[in-house]
Amino acid sequence: MASAIHILNGSPIGNGPLQELSRNVGKVFGVRTYVTSARLNLDLAYDPSRRQFNSTALLVQLLNSFPGSEEKKIALVGVDLYIPVLTFVFGEAQLDGMAAIVSTHRLSNEYYGLQRNDGLMFQRLEKEIVHEAGHTFGLYHCRHFECAMRSSTYVEEIDLKRSSLCEACSARLDEIR
Ligand SMILES: [Zn+2]
Ligand SMILES: [Zn+2]
Repeated sequence: MASAIHILNGSPIGNGPLQELSRNVGKVFGVRTYVTSARLNLDLAYDPSRRQFNSTALLVQLLNSFPGSEEKKIALVGVDLYIPVLTFVFGEAQLDGMAAIVSTHRLSNEYYGLQRNDGLMFQRLEKEIVHEAGHTFGLYHCRHFECAMRSSTYVEEIDLKRSSLCEACSARLDEIR
Protein backbone atom coordinates (compact mmCIF):
# COMPACT_ATOMS: atom_id res chain seq x y z
CA MET A 1 0.00 0.00 0.00
CA ALA A 2 1.36 3.39 -0.99
CA SER A 3 2.03 5.67 1.95
CA ALA A 4 2.23 8.91 0.02
CA ILE A 5 1.48 10.66 -3.22
CA HIS A 6 4.15 12.93 -4.64
CA ILE A 7 2.90 15.65 -6.94
CA LEU A 8 5.85 16.51 -9.17
CA ASN A 9 5.03 19.93 -10.47
CA GLY A 10 6.33 20.93 -13.88
CA SER A 11 3.25 23.00 -14.76
CA PRO A 12 3.12 26.81 -14.92
CA ILE A 13 1.27 26.83 -11.56
CA GLY A 14 3.40 27.53 -8.50
CA ASN A 15 3.83 24.91 -5.77
CA GLY A 16 2.18 27.19 -3.18
CA PRO A 17 -1.27 27.27 -4.78
CA LEU A 18 -1.15 23.47 -5.13
CA GLN A 19 -0.88 22.82 -1.37
CA GLU A 20 -4.59 22.87 -0.54
CA LEU A 21 -5.41 20.83 -3.62
CA SER A 22 -2.80 18.24 -2.70
CA ARG A 23 -4.17 17.95 0.86
CA ASN A 24 -7.63 17.29 -0.59
CA VAL A 25 -6.22 14.60 -2.87
CA GLY A 26 -4.48 13.01 0.13
CA LYS A 27 -7.75 12.89 2.08
CA VAL A 28 -9.48 10.97 -0.72
CA PHE A 29 -6.85 8.21 -0.58
CA GLY A 30 -5.90 8.44 3.09
CA VAL A 31 -2.24 9.15 2.38
CA ARG A 32 0.17 12.02 2.81
CA THR A 33 0.91 14.21 -0.18
CA TYR A 34 3.93 16.26 -1.12
CA VAL A 35 4.33 18.91 -3.80
CA THR A 36 7.77 19.38 -5.30
CA SER A 37 9.07 20.95 -8.47
CA ALA A 38 10.17 18.46 -11.10
CA ARG A 39 10.62 18.80 -14.80
CA LEU A 40 10.41 16.03 -17.32
CA ASN A 41 12.33 16.34 -20.57
CA LEU A 42 9.37 17.29 -22.74
CA ASP A 43 11.42 17.45 -25.94
CA LEU A 44 11.75 13.67 -25.91
CA ALA A 45 7.96 13.29 -26.10
CA TYR A 46 7.21 16.00 -28.66
CA ASP A 47 5.52 15.07 -31.91
CA PRO A 48 6.11 17.91 -34.40
CA SER A 49 3.38 16.74 -36.78
CA ARG A 50 0.75 16.85 -34.01
CA ARG A 51 2.39 19.69 -32.06
CA GLN A 52 1.56 17.72 -28.93
CA PHE A 53 3.38 15.59 -26.40
CA ASN A 54 3.07 11.80 -26.16
CA SER A 55 1.76 11.15 -22.66
CA THR A 56 2.87 7.51 -22.60
CA ALA A 57 6.44 8.53 -23.39
CA LEU A 58 6.34 10.99 -20.49
CA LEU A 59 4.91 8.34 -18.18
CA VAL A 60 7.81 6.01 -19.04
CA GLN A 61 10.26 8.83 -18.48
CA LEU A 62 8.66 9.57 -15.11
CA LEU A 63 9.05 5.94 -14.04
CA ASN A 64 12.69 5.86 -15.14
CA SER A 65 13.57 9.21 -13.55
CA PHE A 66 12.07 8.43 -10.16
CA PRO A 67 12.35 4.66 -9.80
CA GLY A 68 11.50 2.47 -6.85
CA SER A 69 9.60 3.15 -3.65
CA GLU A 70 5.98 2.34 -2.90
CA GLU A 71 4.97 5.97 -3.27
CA LYS A 72 2.85 7.27 -6.11
CA LYS A 73 4.21 9.93 -8.42
CA ILE A 74 1.92 12.26 -10.30
CA ALA A 75 3.63 14.61 -12.73
CA LEU A 76 1.89 17.86 -13.69
CA VAL A 77 2.76 19.39 -17.02
CA GLY A 78 1.49 22.46 -18.84
CA VAL A 79 1.70 21.05 -22.35
CA ASP A 80 -0.96 19.38 -24.50
CA LEU A 81 -0.87 15.58 -24.18
CA TYR A 82 -2.01 12.88 -26.59
CA ILE A 83 -2.04 9.16 -27.02
CA PRO A 84 -1.99 7.95 -30.64
CA VAL A 85 -5.67 6.87 -30.82
CA LEU A 86 -7.06 10.06 -29.29
CA THR A 87 -7.04 13.75 -30.24
CA PHE A 88 -5.84 14.64 -26.75
CA VAL A 89 -5.91 13.41 -23.16
CA PHE A 90 -6.21 15.30 -19.87
CA GLY A 91 -3.88 12.75 -18.32
CA GLU A 92 -2.77 9.16 -18.26
CA ALA A 93 -1.98 6.69 -15.50
CA GLN A 94 -0.41 3.33 -14.98
CA LEU A 95 -3.33 1.17 -13.80
CA ASP A 96 -2.45 -0.26 -10.40
CA GLY A 97 1.00 1.26 -10.81
CA MET A 98 3.26 3.96 -9.48
CA ALA A 99 2.89 6.86 -11.86
CA ALA A 100 0.49 9.18 -13.60
CA ILE A 101 0.66 12.38 -15.58
CA VAL A 102 -1.86 15.23 -15.69
CA SER A 103 -1.87 18.23 -17.99
CA THR A 104 -3.15 21.67 -17.02
CA HIS A 105 -3.20 22.71 -20.69
CA ARG A 106 -6.92 22.21 -21.40
CA LEU A 107 -8.18 22.92 -17.88
CA SER A 108 -8.21 26.72 -18.03
CA ASN A 109 -11.14 28.76 -19.29
CA GLU A 110 -8.73 30.80 -21.40
CA TYR A 111 -7.97 27.74 -23.51
CA TYR A 112 -11.62 27.79 -24.61
CA GLY A 113 -11.68 31.55 -25.16
CA LEU A 114 -13.57 32.16 -21.90
CA GLN A 115 -12.79 34.46 -18.99
CA ARG A 116 -10.05 33.36 -16.64
CA ASN A 117 -11.33 31.58 -13.51
CA ASP A 118 -8.52 30.22 -11.36
CA GLY A 119 -10.90 28.68 -8.81
CA LEU A 120 -12.57 26.63 -11.52
CA MET A 121 -9.22 25.63 -13.01
CA PHE A 122 -8.01 24.35 -9.63
CA GLN A 123 -11.22 22.37 -9.15
CA ARG A 124 -10.72 20.73 -12.54
CA LEU A 125 -7.11 19.98 -11.76
CA GLU A 126 -8.00 18.44 -8.39
CA LYS A 127 -10.59 16.19 -10.05
CA GLU A 128 -8.16 15.05 -12.72
CA ILE A 129 -5.42 14.35 -10.18
CA VAL A 130 -7.86 12.30 -8.07
CA HIS A 131 -8.96 10.50 -11.25
CA GLU A 132 -5.46 9.56 -12.38
CA ALA A 133 -4.32 8.76 -8.83
CA GLY A 134 -7.36 6.49 -8.56
CA HIS A 135 -6.14 4.52 -11.56
CA THR A 136 -2.72 4.09 -9.94
CA PHE A 137 -4.53 2.61 -6.90
CA GLY A 138 -6.23 0.15 -9.27
CA LEU A 139 -9.60 1.87 -9.72
CA TYR A 140 -11.33 1.60 -13.09
CA HIS A 141 -13.69 4.02 -14.78
CA CYS A 142 -17.01 4.46 -13.02
CA ARG A 143 -20.43 5.31 -14.45
CA HIS A 144 -21.64 7.24 -11.43
CA PHE A 145 -22.08 10.72 -12.85
CA GLU A 146 -20.55 12.59 -9.91
CA CYS A 147 -17.67 10.19 -9.24
CA ALA A 148 -14.12 11.40 -9.88
CA MET A 149 -13.47 8.06 -11.62
CA ARG A 150 -15.98 8.83 -14.35
CA SER A 151 -14.08 9.32 -17.59
CA SER A 152 -14.18 12.80 -19.10
CA THR A 153 -13.67 13.57 -22.74
CA TYR A 154 -14.54 17.25 -22.47
CA VAL A 155 -13.90 19.84 -19.80
CA GLU A 156 -17.68 20.27 -19.32
CA GLU A 157 -17.77 16.64 -18.17
CA ILE A 158 -15.06 17.35 -15.61
CA ASP A 159 -17.23 20.18 -14.29
CA LEU A 160 -20.15 17.78 -13.75
CA LYS A 161 -18.27 15.43 -11.47
CA ARG A 162 -16.85 15.83 -7.97
CA SER A 163 -13.29 15.53 -6.77
CA SER A 164 -14.29 12.62 -4.51
CA LEU A 165 -15.05 8.95 -5.06
CA CYS A 166 -18.56 7.47 -5.09
CA GLU A 167 -19.47 4.86 -2.47
CA ALA A 168 -18.71 1.96 -4.79
CA CYS A 169 -15.26 3.28 -5.70
CA SER A 170 -14.49 4.13 -2.04
CA ALA A 171 -15.46 0.58 -1.07
CA ARG A 172 -13.28 -0.82 -3.82
CA LEU A 173 -10.37 1.34 -2.67
CA ASP A 174 -10.80 -0.04 0.87
CA GLU A 175 -10.71 -3.60 -0.52
CA ILE A 176 -7.58 -2.91 -2.53
CA ARG A 177 -5.77 -1.34 0.39
ZN1 LIG B 1 -9.38 7.43 -16.63
ZN1 LIG C 1 -17.21 5.66 -8.67
